[in-house]
Amino acid sequence: QSLANDMDTDAATVTLPQSDERRWSDTSAYARKKILQSWIQLPNGKWELGKILSTSGEESVLSLAEGKVIKVMSETLVPANPDILDGVDDLMQLSYLNEPSVLYNLNYRYNQDMIYTKAGPVLVAVNPFKEVPLYGSRYIEAYRKGSNDSPHVYAIADTAIREMIRDEVNQSIIISGESGAGKTETAKIAMQYLAALGGGSGIEYEILKTNPIIEAFGNAKTLRNDNSSRFGKLTEIHFSETGKISGAQVQTFLLEKSRVVQCAEGERSYHIFYQLCAGASPALREKLNLKSAHEYKYLGQSNCYSINGVDDAERFHTVKEALDIVHVSKEDQESVFAMLAAVLWLGNVSFTVIDNENHVEPVAYESLLTVAKLIGCNSNDLKLSLSKRNMRVGKDTIVQKLTLPQAIDARDALAKSIYSCLFDWLVEQINKSLAVGKRRTGRSISILDIYGFESFDKNSFEQFCINYANERLQQHFNRHLFKLEQEEYIQDGIDWTRVDFEDNQDCLSLFEKKPLGLLSLLDEESTFPNGTDLTLANKLKQHLLSNSCFRGDRGKLFTVVHYAGEVTYETTGFLEKNRDFLHLDSIQLLSSCSCHLPQAFASSMLIQSEKPVVGPLHKAGGADSQRLSVATKFKGQLFQLMQRLGNTTPHFIRCIKPNNVQSPGLYEQGLVLQQLRCCGVLEHLCKGPYNTFLLELVSVAILHQFNILPEMYQVGYTKLFFRTGQIGVLEDTRNRTL
Ligand code: ADP
Ligand code: MG
Repeated sequence: QSLANDMDTDAATVTLPQSDERRWSDTSAYARKKILQSWIQLPNGKWELGKILSTSGEESVLSLAEGKVIKVMSETLVPANPDILDGVDDLMQLSYLNEPSVLYNLNYRYNQDMIYTKAGPVLVAVNPFKEVPLYGSRYIEAYRKGSNDSPHVYAIADTAIREMIRDEVNQSIIISGESGAGKTETAKIAMQYLAALGGGSGIEYEILKTNPIIEAFGNAKTLRNDNSSRFGKLTEIHFSETGKISGAQVQTFLLEKSRVVQCAEGERSYHIFYQLCAGASPALREKLNLKSAHEYKYLGQSNCYSINGVDDAERFHTVKEALDIVHVSKEDQESVFAMLAAVLWLGNVSFTVIDNENHVEPVAYESLLTVAKLIGCNSNDLKLSLSKRNMRVGKDTIVQKLTLPQAIDARDALAKSIYSCLFDWLVEQINKSLAVGKRRTGRSISILDIYGFESFDKNSFEQFCINYANERLQQHFNRHLFKLEQEEYIQDGIDWTRVDFEDNQDCLSLFEKKPLGLLSLLDEESTFPNGTDLTLANKLKQHLLSNSCFRGDRGKLFTVVHYAGEVTYETTGFLEKNRDFLHLDSIQLLSSCSCHLPQAFASSMLIQSEKPVVGPLHKAGGADSQRLSVATKFKGQLFQLMQRLGNTTPHFIRCIKPNNVQSPGLYEQGLVLQQLRCCGVLEHLCKGPYNTFLLELVSVAILHQFNILPEMYQVGYTKLFFRTGQIGVLEDTRNRTL
């Protein structure tokens, strides 16, 4: 521990924590001797800037703001950049690349509404939580003409279009960040630019209109974000030879189904439910027997019905208009709304005990009858499917009566399935409508808006899948940046064999290895009728302890060492969420419906089945529909996604949330730092052994003169490559001599 001593009576005594976070800052003794100002970390974790007054032996004396003077151990100092570098628009331009300098620079820009900053090849976007004057046709025009070159999503989109045309290679814009960081807004801003430049056919208008639809059905208010996307999304925009938009395709990933039947206090279910309840016309209300949101149990349990500043009724009209624009017929729209109402009414179906073994059946009241009417089935069939289950035992079929928890599960499973099928069906309709330019030239720009790394106090199956996806994306990111670096070194004749390649393959293998990886073991346990969350946890510990990325904890806990940090997962609910089955009885019920949507849902569920659903089925207690497990399906989607992205030139945007209260002007250092670390931007900024520095006239003799040791640089054809921190040393020396 280093201690700061009072130098004058006014100065507060500060105990400086030993900084163990200087993973990539350069504080070699050599650099330290030359620096003029420096960062020191206060006990509260904040960094403060100080001028170095003197350095003697192991200690340095610094003057801080407001006349405070302190003495600290020199090794705790982190060099700060000269003032002329304040607010540079590419972090790579900083002489000293370290965490406090990066934080300071982003903050400096953020205070002036410059929310975009480059970090080498990556664009960092800090969420302003307010309207910033950076968008619209004037800006689009400026980026198109190249008259504005400050970092921007528009600039990224512009580069993507140019490179697509120049290199004849598909492009991707990969947006990541945690919930509420601004990914979805960023994706829309990128789409706006592409639509403006590639527009003309009218299809671009349709593409933009898919956003309000997909957001209404796939977004919800959460504690982190009033408009949180509960799914991942890839939008592939197709271009003709002349660079005009010819169509688009949307793919979605892993919709959070559980939200339909259950959500936390203060959060909401999907926007569309509240929009429908608030905005439906009297005629529609009557047809669907629609009540207000308060009367539905699924919506009532979280005690939150509205969002500040949002008019759900008005939004409902926007969604209907958008549905018109993407050619969803009025009849189909009405069927969609009927499905929504059916889901809501299902939540109100209650049960009554019918025998002395606690078996139940649904009460044939308004809710049950309305559901039957809305989906077009016989109310007695619906009642049966919610109170009994057909099971195959050997060659026989037995009928099992349901207890209350089982009946509630059956009801909720049906509601979740109807909703998620409806979501998929809508995306499919949108895709049909956007696939107009059938004669594709094969050029496209894909925009990926996908959940970022998540680490909460409690982490469940959702975080498990999301973080697995992020490992895959991180590998893509690492490999791409490595390739870029390598290319630069090769071009300049530098020996690149010494460049380390940071790889997270070990962690990915932990997930993907067969048969002894997290996903395989999870699937295996999910097929065992007697598998429980605890047996799963034990099985993982039994087989994976030797893996350096895995740690077993007590009970149902296990820890994975992700690239962005360790996450402890709790297996509670893993098996059920992974199985996600709908009993065959329920699927058969849907296929017997007279309405076309439930029928379509039933057949899509049957198509998804890996094995035939009929035929010898499970032992007692097992699932009877054998769909792919959620994890396996997701893994397949991810592989396909990576394959698609693998054939594109990627452009990365990292969104940062500067505070947890969705409030403008508030920049919390610790929160920003944690996100920068998670997304791997910091490491990559100066991971490479050499920082590049374009210096036309500098010669090795000058370097010699300034005591820069030969191992600190390599001379390329066009550039000098300095080891991290050496440019700062040179600059400080210059400032001293001036
Ligand atoms: P994410 O998709 O990462 O969860 P969103 O894109 O939904 O986050 O952004 C959350 C909120 O932050 C938005 O609803 C909006 O209020 C605000 N926001 C994000 N980006 C911007 C921006 N560029 N300009 C203004 N507000 C923004
Ligand atoms: Mg989002």
